[in-house]
Amino acid sequence: LYVDVELSEGAEIRLDGSHAHYLLKVMRIKQDQPVKLFDDRTGEYLAHVTMVGKRDLILLIDGKTRERENVPDLWLLAAPIKKDRYNWIAEKATELGITKMIPIQTQRTQNTGIKPDKLRAHMIEAAEQCERTALPELEPLIKLEALLDSWPGDRHLFFADERIHESGAGSFRKALVAHAGPAALLIGPEGGFSDVENEMIRALPQSVPVSLGPRILRADTAAVAAISLWMAGRGD
Ligand code: SAM
Repeated sequence: LYVDVELSEGAEIRLDGSHAHYLLKVMRIKQDQPVKLFDDRTGEYLAHVTMVGKRDLILLIDGKTRERENVPDLWLLAAPIKKDRYNWIAEKATELGITKMIPIQTQRTQNTGIKPDKLRAHMIEAAEQCERTALPELEPLIKLEALLDSWPGDRHLFFADERIHESGAGSFRKALVAHAGPAALLIGPEGGFSDVENEMIRALPQSVPVSLGPRILRADTAAVAAISLWMAGRGD
């Protein structure tokens, strides 16, 4: 369970609201039962229940079970698509191990009404489910131009371009070998990037156009495929 307070061995922590609801009503937790907690700052802890109230409970932290994990430095830049499928991307990207998600607004982006709180809740739930001890950051929606203008010089931008495959270029494997270090994956919206955007992205010195294979993948599939490929090459 993720809690937004710094945890430490021997500390007592009172949970109410959604945390208490989850533990009391969903998990039906009882006095003395163990609970695993992480704080996204110091790591994961084992605690046990010392007091059960109607709408709150108190836990005593017994000890640290894991340090906060070091995840490979990978950002996901994905243009928002239909809400439930964008939530799915956030969930899977969290499971697969990204460090940051940046929603980007492109010419063909249709859903710009992202609700950061909801998206973050999906990411937290995914982190809890797969036992991550570090949450990915979630940035506010940013326009593609603004993102490229402020692009950090030391980070490669792996640009998933469905048009590159035919030229025989764009091998993901070769791109990984040639471009070590911090990276980001850029995935377009369902309608893809416009020609102007495509040129703009390619003009960025850190841009590395990559193919995800001969077929045109849905944006959500493309995001998960790209993260998996990157992790397979670099994630260890
Ligand atoms: N422009 C396309 C169209 O409407 O025919 C489709 C865009 S595709 C559904 C959405 C995004 O997924 C693309 O912008 C790209 O970033 C990524 N993508 C999909 N298939 C890909 C592939 N085979 N190689 C690289 N990127 C791909």
